[in-house]
Amino acid sequence: MMQSSGVALVTGASRGIGRATACELGRRGYAVAVNYVGDEQGASETVERIVAEGSRAMAFRADVSSHDGARDLVEAVEKAMGPLEALVLNAGITRDGLLARMSEEDWDRVIDVNLKGVYNVLKWGSRSMMRRKSGRIVAVSSVVALTGNVGQANYCASKAGVIGLVRASARELSRYGITVNVVAPGFIDTDMTGALTGEVRDRLTAAIPLGRMGTPEDVAKAIAFLLSPDASYITGEVLRVDGGMSIGAHT
Ligand code: NAP
Repeated sequence: MMQSSGVALVTGASRGIGRATACELGRRGYAVAVNYVGDEQGASETVERIVAEGSRAMAFRADVSSHDGARDLVEAVEKAMGPLEALVLNAGITRDGLLARMSEEDWDRVIDVNLKGVYNVLKWGSRSMMRRKSGRIVAVSSVVALTGNVGQANYCASKAGVIGLVRASARELSRYGITVNVVAPGFIDTDMTGALTGEVRDRLTAAIPLGRMGTPEDVAKAIAFLLSPDASYITGEVLRVDGGMSIGAHT
């Protein structure tokens, strides 16, 4: 299914949705920069899978919450692989707890990785795209940005912030021919949701009209669509990939 060439950077691609996206983009002909922060082995596995399927890939360690680290990441990717054509801002964490008991540290870390991390990589990555007047950017938010969720005030705030950040950036970058969109996944089977008990999983799954959890590949295909020429007239959009879980919630 080779469809495009150019370099794509996927943040948080050592596992889960990021890995599935990196592999999908490799299959579509991108050379893929696989970012991670701690799981070097996971990142290497992602690279190996992409290379085995016939595309180019390299791993890059960087903490997206660092402003300078994100600048160095973009520089290193472009130096090693060439100009960025696509950017997937996927890296994210949870530090759940009820608001009344949420520590300042848990609030700050989630905002730093999930929201400031998107700002950091978007800022440095889009500078290079602006010079070339071309590029496609997708940020990964969550449906809980639209619906809220008990125990996730920090996470919901960070993911809602991503939507505002993307909409502002989409307006600013449109005159450079760059699109910026959001994918908002629902309940996806990854390490992030792996810690939930069977009972919680059953309850959440029962609330999904399509009757199953999503797979990382379900999300990866939506991201790949928004990066593709087929989506060239779509910008500032929020695409929910949630099996209908948030039908009725406003974007
Ligand atoms: P995951 O399996 O926990 O993977 C998270 C990825 O983010 C890992 O590759 C991790 O790298 C990376 N990461 C974490 N902190 C980072 C940092 N400071 N700098 C760079 N990379 C960092 O998560 P997932 O479920 O695939 O989620 C991916 C995205 O989708 C997240 O933004 C998440 O909020 C969002 N999302 C997930 C769901 C869901 O149900 N799973 C639903 C809605 C939205 P290391 O492995 O090196 O630590």
